[in-house]
Order: sequence, then C-alpha cells, then structure tokens
Amino acid sequence: STANDAEASINPANRNEVVGYIQRSTKEDVDKAVAAARQAQKAWRKLSGAARGEYLYKIANILESRLEDIAATMTKEMGKTLPEAKGETMRGVAILRYYAGEGMRKIGDVIPSTDNEALMFTTRVPLGVVGVISPWNFPVAIPIWKMAPALIYGNTVVIKPAQETAVTAAKVIECMDEAGLPAGVVNMVTGRGSVVGEAIVNHPDVNGITFTGSNATGKRIGQAALARGAKYQLEMGGKNPVIIASDADLDLAVEGTISGGLRSTGQKCTATSRVFVQADVYDVFKEKLLAKVQEITIGNGLEDGIWMGPCASESQLNTVLSYIEKGKSEGATLLYGGERYTENGGEDGFYVQPTVFENVTNDMVIAREEIFGPVLALIKVDTVEEALEQANDAEFGLSASIYTKDIGNMLSFINEMDAGLVRINAETAGVELQAPFGGMKQSSSHSREQGQAAIEFFTAIKTV
Ligand code: NAP
Repeated sequence: STANDAEASINPANRNEVVGYIQRSTKEDVDKAVAAARQAQKAWRKLSGAARGEYLYKIANILESRLEDIAATMTKEMGKTLPEAKGETMRGVAILRYYAGEGMRKIGDVIPSTDNEALMFTTRVPLGVVGVISPWNFPVAIPIWKMAPALIYGNTVVIKPAQETAVTAAKVIECMDEAGLPAGVVNMVTGRGSVVGEAIVNHPDVNGITFTGSNATGKRIGQAALARGAKYQLEMGGKNPVIIASDADLDLAVEGTISGGLRSTGQKCTATSRVFVQADVYDVFKEKLLAKVQEITIGNGLEDGIWMGPCASESQLNTVLSYIEKGKSEGATLLYGGERYTENGGEDGFYVQPTVFENVTNDMVIAREEIFGPVLALIKVDTVEEALEQANDAEFGLSASIYTKDIGNMLSFINEMDAGLVRINAETAGVELQAPFGGMKQSSSHSREQGQAAIEFFTAIKTV
C-alpha cells in the first residue's frame, strides 16, 4: 500500500527503486503486541527446552531455504553486497541451530547446603516478555541473535526492527510463522523508534529490553528501563583501532585493515577506523594500503564483482560526507577518496568513495566519533606502547586488533587493550556466534550477547 500509514523503503543503490512499504505502527499496536506476547508466554514457558528448540530448528531450515530471496532483499534494502548478505543470512541459520541445541543444556547448578538433608540448587527462569530493538546494519543476524536466545529460554518477544530494513526483518518473521511458532510468541511492530521503540521501552509489561544501535539511543533506553526497573542490555558503537607493529606481516595487515574498515561500507560496529602504524614501517604500509584501496570496486551489491556497495541511506551518506569535511577542516590530510561516488549510474545511489586520511591525531573528531562509513584514519606512532596508550584513549571499547609476530606485543595487547573483543593478526570485525560478544566502556551496558553468555540476560537465576 502507499497509504499514509506506510513508509517506502528505498534501495540505497538506486533511490528510484522502492523495495517495499513499511507500516508506521502506533503505541496502540505496541499495546496489542505486548498483550499477545504476555498471553503466549504462559504456554511457551511450560514447553521443555527441547520442544522450544524444535521450533528453532524448523525456523532455521525455512530461513535456509529462503536464503536467495532474503539475502537479495537485504542487499536491495541496505546495500551490502550479495555475498555478504548471504553470509549474514547463513549466520542467522547457524545461530538458530546453536540456540536450538542450548534448549537441552544445563540451566542450573547444585550447591552443597549446610543442612545435610537439604537439596539446594539454582534454576534459570525466563524474564517474561522481551523487547528487541535492532539496527539496520545486520538486519537478519542481530534480530536473530537476540530472538533465538530469548525464545529458547522461555521468553516471548516484541520486536521493533530498524525501519530502514524492516522489509528484510519481516521476511525473517515470516519464516517463524511458516514454522508454526504459536501465535503471540514473536510479535513484530514497525515504525519509528521515537514512537514504537519508546512505547516498547516504557511498557510496564515488557520485562527486558535488548537493544543494539547508537549510543545516543542506547543511553535513553537504558535510563528509561532503569527508571521502571526493567532489565536491559545495550550494545552500541565503536571506534575500533588496529595496531600495525614494525614486525607485522604488512600484506596481511593491509588486507585486514581494508576488510575491517571498508567492507560493508564501514557500517559495522566492529569496523576498523583508527589505524596506528609504527613509524619505521609507516611509508611501506601506506603505499601498500593505497594500492589496494584503489582496486576496490564500488557499485550495486547485487552485481558480480562489486566489493563495496552504497551507504545504507541518504542520511548515512550525508553523515559520512560531513565527517570527511570535518577531517579536512581539522587539518588531517586526505590521501584517497573523500567524495561521493557518481560513476556508472552512481549518482542515483548513496555511494561514497573509500576514504583514507593521514596526519590524523587521536584528538581529532574523526579519531573520536563513530563515523559508520568507509573512512580510515592513519596515525603514526613510535612504539607499540604508544599505540596501545592512544588506542585506549577513546570513549569506546568494542573491538581492537594488532598485527605483529612478537609474543610480547601480543601479550601486552591482550592484557592492556580495553575492548570486549581483541584479535591478533586478524581484522577488528569478526565475531563468532558461539563466543560472547559485547563491548567495554561506552560501547555496551557491560553485558554480553551470543554464545552461552546470552543466558545471563535472557534468564533470571532462582535459588531453590
Ligand atoms: P539507532 O539509530 O540507535 O537505531 C537503532 C534502533 O533503535 C532502531 O530500530 C531505531 O528505530 C530505534 N530507536 C531510535 N530511537 C529510539 C528511541 N527513542 N527509543 C527506542 N528505540 C529507538 O542505530 P542505527 O543507526 O540503526 O545503527 C547503527 C549503530 O548501531 C551504530 O552506532 C553501530 O555501532 C551500532 N551497532 C552496534 C552493534 C554491537 O553489537 N555493539 C552491532 C551493530 C550496530 P528507527 O531507526 O527505525 O526509527
């Protein structure tokens, strides 16, 4: 429909293409969704974990069978390349299967009582209704990595996906419907965060809120949840550093810096943005990096041979361009890119060139604020120690990496880097679903998602 209550979802590779229409739901719709979730939770929590797991296996199989369509929709809706969209969709499948298995693993401990005749133990119980608020950059994987653990531990869900990618999210929910998930167990409401997101966060019958998105929104949500005593989990932005030590394998470091910083058009929370390079290898690293950046193919992510798609939206493009201007005005040197990309029909899309700055200092805005675009800032340092100090001089602490062959450097980095994910000779972006994921400092509410860590948020411990 093109009615007033619907919003068009636009293809960022071609602003003239409408991918679908998304309903602008209201607070009343949220009330209905929460009531349905509350009602459904009574029966859902009584199922065994194994029985709930069977539903997740079914959803996984249906999602896998719709891989092509869902991945293509994701590419059209937010611009990441089709191979990346397929990879993300298959990650969603794997997450569902992982948590299906969790339904048969332990949910408590036996603890010796001081009374020899007593049996004392803990058991995990669901929170109740969980509100899921997700961003547009991983429109399949993030909703699933929140919903799958919520469901397996006996919660029901009200989800508000980012409006930007709600068509893709709706296709995931369709898989759940087709799998026969009982009515009310998962409820999707669409619309603006300031309307339906806030309505979920403030609803007295929503027991927990799991959010991934920007810091500004996350802080609001955390404060609102705290004010009414709801459990909350926030995963937010990053300003992720890579350190290139003198002894690094420079080709590997270049590959990881480009992949970490520019893949998905830099729109990953774990994207590399600050590149600390030891002075004695700085020039060689820079030349190798620029040679590779020049080879990046830009265009519609549905086409073969395209490495980097557009920014997800016009506003995202404008944000990136304004940070590039800021970098120039602060005195950083633009080495490559810095402009909109308009070749090959690119003027109809929200494309920006991959961009590399040098002569950046760690106090510049482009080294402090999350840009969420394909922009790398090179910072020259004398020692690994100095790099670590500056890498830690940041509000965020999501992910970080170092390229080195020296075990001493590796150990200092593991011990001293303030980040929830640290990687060695590997790019900053790279998360495995079976391991805990989350940030330190302003990147997170200090909880962890994914793997077995998810049980901490999605359940409460009861001591018997
Ligand atoms: P965002 O603008 O904060 O939006 C995230 C979600 O919150 C959207 O669904 C949004 O709705 C909703 N929302 C907005 N205002 C709200 C409010 N007042 N109350 C409740 N909900 C509200 O973030 P984004 O631009 O989509 O995502 C990019 C950010 O996510 C980056 O900062 C990135 O680093 C972060 N991120 C973090 C991780 C991680 O795991 N740490 C992973 C991926 C992304 P609408 O936009 O639809 O209106």
